[in-house]
Amino acid sequence: MAFTYDDQNIFAKILRGEIPNKTVFENDHALAFDDINPQAPVHVLVIPKGPYVSFDHFAAQATPEEQIGFMAAVSEVCKIKDVTNGFRAIANAREDAVQDVPHFHIHIIGGRALGPILS
Ligand code: AMP
Repeated sequence: MAFTYDDQNIFAKILRGEIPNKTVFENDHALAFDDINPQAPVHVLVIPKGPYVSFDHFAAQATPEEQIGFMAAVSEVCKIKDVTNGFRAIANAREDAVQDVPHFHIHIIGGRALGPILS
């Protein structure tokens, strides 16, 4: 599958510093920040710094260093937000999943009982 990245998406603008964000954690390959419309007490978005549209794009084409850096950021977010009681990690991709922002991101959601995975 071919992936086309649009660098005018809002997360690309955040990465370029054109739009502010509430940073939770940052390393060379990933940025984590609070979601602007949180669905739970913890709602953090973890994004790679590279131009990847979706999880399957990132999994297929990101370098090992980018993938390791991204996963390290997820780990740090879980520690910083202290989701000891659990959390949900969600990555929406394309139309069926209603992906609004076409830059790969994982939602880390927690801080309360979340119920079943799909309602
Ligand atoms: P998705 O539907 O999986 O693409 O999720 C996009 C998420 O980005 C939503 O949860 C939005 O609330 C969030 N979002 C959109 N704009 C911003 C922003 N400027 N800062 C932080 N989160 C944002």
